[in-house]
Amino acid sequence: MRTRDCKIVATMGPASDPPERLAMLIEAGVDCFRLNFSHGGREDHARRMQTIRAAEEKAGAPVAVFADLQGPKIRVGMFADGHITLRYNDIVTIEASDEPGEGKLIRMPHPELVGSLEEGDVLKLDDGKMQLTVTERGRNQVKARVDYGGTLKNQKGVNVPTRRIPISALTAKDREDLAFALELGVDYIALSFVQHPEDVREARELIGARAGIISKIEKPSALQQIEEIVELSDAVMVARGDLGVELPPEQVPIAQRQIIRAARAAGKPVIVATHMLESMVDAPTPTRAEASDVATAVYQGADAVMLSAESAVGRHPQSAVAIMDRIIRAVEADEEYWSALPRDMTPPQATTADAIALSARHIADVIGCAALVAYTATGSSAIRVARERPRCGVIGLTPYVETARRLALVWGVRSVVTEDARNVEDMVAKADAAVRALGVAGPDDRVAIIAGIPFGRAGKTNTIRVLRLE
Ligand code: PGA
Ligand code: MN
Repeated sequence: MRTRDCKIVATMGPASDPPERLAMLIEAGVDCFRLNFSHGGREDHARRMQTIRAAEEKAGAPVAVFADLQGPKIRVGMFADGHITLRYNDIVTIEASDEPGEGKLIRMPHPELVGSLEEGDVLKLDDGKMQLTVTERGRNQVKARVDYGGTLKNQKGVNVPTRRIPISALTAKDREDLAFALELGVDYIALSFVQHPEDVREARELIGARAGIISKIEKPSALQQIEEIVELSDAVMVARGDLGVELPPEQVPIAQRQIIRAARAAGKPVIVATHMLESMVDAPTPTRAEASDVATAVYQGADAVMLSAESAVGRHPQSAVAIMDRIIRAVEADEEYWSALPRDMTPPQATTADAIALSARHIADVIGCAALVAYTATGSSAIRVARERPRCGVIGLTPYVETARRLALVWGVRSVVTEDARNVEDMVAKADAAVRALGVAGPDDRVAIIAGIPFGRAGKTNTIRVLRLE
């Protein structure tokens, strides 16, 4: 009867587009889809959203969707020949301009970046395949030496790990994409290249309560203020792709642990992303190292693990999901997983909701409840119980489909959209019906219920009730 607690996120793309393929991905275990606004046009995102919602309805369980905004991804401009060749120790010139570069001249349409560069700054090009160090700053340009070279093609990405770039996490394109994504009705907005808490505040001003905010942690400057960023966000992502360009590779696992710990302490869902089953873009099976990487994220208590190219453009999207599902289930069947989880727990906050969440988990563990049901309007009380990592998982009962969908990203939570309870008898009856319908509990099983009485008001969880099913 046990289901999987750690959730699976899959990135949409041509490989997952056909409706029958998408339905199979959900069946294989996808809980949440990512619409990647770095690729594809509006028609693509709108069509994908429709396909997901249609499949969700058929599957009969809520599915979360997030729009991943491109963010201030810095890129070099175009080249007259489409590319230039960088050789070790060459001195190149970097200039802010929309014109194409050539020879030893790199132009990029980012005056704010070029204007902020100083001697000693490091520029990583094309995911770190090439590297430059700034040697001299001029008025409108800088000189840089090639540390390691290669062929630099049009519009390849530039990372500047040594510098906090004086731009907001939302570009003009992001603002338009954001408005469009909210119109589509996505459940979360993911912010790329968050550098400091102000970036999250700025996004919140625009988004309000219309969607949750996932802060992607992929800049060293974000790591330095991780607690505050987590606090302001609804979820965070360990975005190891760009993080691994900005940081030396040996620092990425340390950062992953640090981010997961900060998120779990605050009770915010955390997604571990990028390269998890990368070889499955082509191969039908993962490498042992990849299987181990997914398992590690699960052991560390991640709420979700994510597929990128594997599901967006890979040759085996469905197998990638199925294998992720099996790896997660294998870890969750290991006693060591459950005994290690509490090591990363932090004490509850001094609120009624947290006190009740802790007590409900104790009750569920002591008497071996088959389910822990949380009546939840905003999703917050279900998230607070999930933070306690109860072995039986959490069933969220909510009158709002939006809440049910957002909870699809959270460790251990399955949701059912149900009208609010009218009174205590009704509360028990609805919980009883939900756990039976989900097949998580049957005759003689015990179920713990948490709710706020009087019913119908948000943020008032104050009651625990234990029920024995007939
Ligand atoms: P991206 O973000 O795939 O949008 O770049 C994830 C990452 O950088 O890991
Ligand atoms: Mn990224």
